[in-house]
Amino acid sequence: MRRDQEIFDLIELEHKRQLKGMELIASENFVSDEVMQAMGSYLTNKYAEGYPGKRYYGGCQVVDQVETIAIERIKQLFGAEFANVQPHSGAQANQAVLLAVLKPGDTFMGLDLDQGGHLSHGSEVNTSGILYHHIGYTLNRETGRVDYDEMERLAREHKPKLIIGGGSAYSREWDYKRMRQIADEVGALLMVDMAHPAGLIAAGLLDNPVKYAHIVTTTTHKTLRGPRGGVILMGKDFENPWGLTTKKGVVKPMSMLLNSAVFPGNQGGPLEHVIAAKAVGFGENLLPSWKEYALQVKKNASVLAQALIDKGFSIVSGGTDNHSMLLDLRQKYPDLTGKVAETALVAADITANKNKVPYDERSAFQTSGLRLGTAAMTTRGCKEDMMLLCADLIDEVLADPENEQVIKRVREKVNETMKDYPLFAY
Ligand code: PLP
Repeated sequence: MRRDQEIFDLIELEHKRQLKGMELIASENFVSDEVMQAMGSYLTNKYAEGYPGKRYYGGCQVVDQVETIAIERIKQLFGAEFANVQPHSGAQANQAVLLAVLKPGDTFMGLDLDQGGHLSHGSEVNTSGILYHHIGYTLNRETGRVDYDEMERLAREHKPKLIIGGGSAYSREWDYKRMRQIADEVGALLMVDMAHPAGLIAAGLLDNPVKYAHIVTTTTHKTLRGPRGGVILMGKDFENPWGLTTKKGVVKPMSMLLNSAVFPGNQGGPLEHVIAAKAVGFGENLLPSWKEYALQVKKNASVLAQALIDKGFSIVSGGTDNHSMLLDLRQKYPDLTGKVAETALVAADITANKNKVPYDERSAFQTSGLRLGTAAMTTRGCKEDMMLLCADLIDEVLADPENEQVIKRVREKVNETMKDYPLFAY
């Protein structure tokens, strides 16, 4: 018996929920035991405000080494010259970048939330949209892909100080080169948030935005398969374009502005136990076997997308280049909302999330879309045959989402099948 049995019982319940279900949430994954152990380690006891070698607390000699290893590993992984591994989350990494490069009221551009962007790219309910002036770019209605011509037109018109690329529900490769050209033309900085595809980029399966963008952010817990957290990277450090200087009159490099924006600008003490887990995760990303995993994630996503298309579902942009896809339910089931679809699937132990599709006439609480991703199922060792099964089961549930018999039958099949797959098979 533990002192807090209530919470540990709930942790075990969540463990069982994860084991028995099919996890298709595009932003989720399952971490290795070593990542988990680092997170639950003695490092959680340590305060370490500041950066390695320059802390505001004593006793940081060990965590300095941990944080330095995390920094060096992720720099190696993405070919970056600078990394800050302290952001507690992806949203906080983005918030820190905005704090470093914008003043309140400044204009910046990011993909609109209801077109697949993230909250922290300018949504009116997030600090990015509350403190700064956001101009949203969109997807082309016909192709479902980022409309770079529109992006260019908007950039010329609004002269943003920053353009953000990347999104949360976008299954296609980005044209970072074109975005950098647009940013250069209007004198903006380019930031790319690669949170979703970072694991595939690390494996060399998608273009690396670190080569093109001034600043890159990512979460560490999606396709990268590390602990929950954020990171800021730069391919090359550079002098800040506004001539901000130190007390000694030296022009501050962007690395200094970014570090100050994370701490003390945005956060207090770093989570060194999470940073240790990030280091362990980056170590896994650097192994030759990582490419094998990432390739399977991508393969699984194309097989799942094609199987759903074959069943008459529509996928925004017609397919996927990465781990994710956005089903537009309106083509096959015009009356079915994402909310009803999500609820029915969850009842069958298939976890996915409702999502607006571009130009959705339904609200964010209802939606006409369902977002799916294959990173988590791939970590469990699932291959193409399992993707075909997922498509069959999803189709069976969505054809009759209120039929409890169907849901029960599918749930039993899901639970029985997943018994053969450990949470972490790599
Ligand atoms: N950036 C993108 C593109 C995301 O999709 C997300 C989360 O889904 C985030 C940032 C935010 O990450 P976090 O939930 O760690 O704040």
